[in-house]
Amino acid sequence: MSSESVEDELSAPSDFLSRMRHTTTHVMAQAVNEIFPDAKLGIGPVIENGFYYDFDLPRSLTPDDLEEIERRMTRIVKEDLKLNRFVEPREVARQRCENMGQSYKVQLIDDLPEGEEISFFQQGDFIDLCRGPHIESTGRIGAFKLMSVAGAYWRGSEKNPMLQRIYGTAFQKKSQLESYLEMLEEAKKRDHKVLGKQLGLFMNSSLIGPGLPLWLPNGAIVRRTLERFIQDVEIERGYEHVYTPVLAHKNLYEVSGHWEHYKDGMFPVMEIDGEEFVLRPMNCPHHIQIFKNELRSYRELPVRYAELGTMYRWEKSGELSGLSRVRAMTLSDAHIFCSEDQVKDEVKAAILMIEDAYRRLGITEYRYRLSLHDPKNTEKYVDNPELWSKAEGELREVFAELDMPYYEGVGEAAFYGPKIDIQLKNVLGREETVSTVQVDRHLPNQFELEFIGEDGKRHRPVMIHRGYLSTMERMISFLIEHYAGAFPVWLAPEQVRILSIADRHNEWCEALAKRMNALGLRVKVDARSEKTGKKIAEAQIRKIPYMLIVGDRDIENGTVSVRVREKGDIGPRPVDEFIADLKAEADARGLPDHPIASV
Ligand SMILES: [Zn+2]
Ligand SMILES: [Zn+2]
Repeated sequence: MSSESVEDELSAPSDFLSRMRHTTTHVMAQAVNEIFPDAKLGIGPVIENGFYYDFDLPRSLTPDDLEEIERRMTRIVKEDLKLNRFVEPREVARQRCENMGQSYKVQLIDDLPEGEEISFFQQGDFIDLCRGPHIESTGRIGAFKLMSVAGAYWRGSEKNPMLQRIYGTAFQKKSQLESYLEMLEEAKKRDHKVLGKQLGLFMNSSLIGPGLPLWLPNGAIVRRTLERFIQDVEIERGYEHVYTPVLAHKNLYEVSGHWEHYKDGMFPVMEIDGEEFVLRPMNCPHHIQIFKNELRSYRELPVRYAELGTMYRWEKSGELSGLSRVRAMTLSDAHIFCSEDQVKDEVKAAILMIEDAYRRLGITEYRYRLSLHDPKNTEKYVDNPELWSKAEGELREVFAELDMPYYEGVGEAAFYGPKIDIQLKNVLGREETVSTVQVDRHLPNQFELEFIGEDGKRHRPVMIHRGYLSTMERMISFLIEHYAGAFPVWLAPEQVRILSIADRHNEWCEALAKRMNALGLRVKVDARSEKTGKKIAEAQIRKIPYMLIVGDRDIENGTVSVRVREKGDIGPRPVDEFIADLKAEADARGLPDHPIASV
């Protein structure tokens, strides 16, 4: 390992690390087998950050069981058992698994293609069917920990028996395991699903369905504020907004190629009056129809259509999570139609616009990926080598001209063209694509788009797909975790809470709140006859940026006692001054940083 940082291991476990983690599953299986001699084994793969193994056991596992399994694993590691590989002909191997009572392994063997070598690995007297690879002996396993148990159907099908899946992780060094566990603790505190509940941001309803979150009033404020920001920036930068429907004829997607390349990610067809409709998985073909609505001259280009476009994607139910993996989502989308010689400038402008938004949002950990097609995968990508090399070369030039570092990802392109993906690191250190800029000469061909050039002849425009700040769902789930729920003033659902010390202050507090609300500030009064300490504690749980505590002296002097979320009390401030500063902070939309708090 060239680096010991947990993050590096998360993004790309070394070959040794993944062999070691996989070997740990054998050690775990051996330990489980000692406790439950009749245990039937499923599969035990390495996954991101660790591993699991599925077991069919006579009873449900308890936390005590996990401890006992860990104890036995520690012993097996100390024994430094060699992993010996041996190969058997299919029938012998099958018989062996049957004799051991390993019916799932028999099924695995039956499913192996003819001619494939069937191998077992043995450590001590424990034998497991496995392809490998492993490390040579159990003694080389570093620090490990069993994390949790969950139910999992054999082969993921409800028709099969439910097995018990034990999750674990392993690192070469104890210190690495410790920092990984610390990071998990921190991530748990920031989990957007937990904070989403605590802060009243969103919910799910089983009657509505999985992956279809509902935005609660507080979450809706955050979303609306972000959406307004997006639209204001777009208007400033020459985008025009459009509204388009969320469903369309299936044929639209056959022409665009989405049906061919993206069908599995779409909801099934709806048949109405003999016509076939689908919920849209993308907004592009809709914006194309608007561009086609009239024949444009080169003088009108670039045309930039933006929409907070809602779309529907069929994510597997097992992959749905909070706001981050959903089936209905609203993308801050735009499509730019331009001439060949405008492409690079438009891509650059889109990148700089994204950079500015990140700066305002305080997002600093991201990198640019140039997502290229995989020439070997002709199924996934439009087959037109010339078109690919032109578009990919162009994006390399953009990076060079902007003098920006980037890395290349082969096989990460859209089916119709290369992309610039901005990869953000989430609290788990995992990278996700948030913003994208894509150059597309395929869809303009499919839809035969044209404009009248300077020469009076018809030309084909280039299309640039621009995803600004991702979908509102993904972006806000990211921001919740990024801020640990403590939104900056401009995004905070409640910017200020005024706390009256006694009932006689309530009227004054209400008037103050009214005055601030009229300025567009989000202010509430806690006028309950509770102790001030209790009111402060509750406002803190809500992560409200400012509390104003109002007593006799404040009313006398026209001041408020300010309590800043990050700093605690900063003493009394004249009311007018506080309001002006707060208004400036909210209007600055992230820039400059917290002028009041920095007093
Ligand atoms: Zn193995
Ligand atoms: Zn698009």
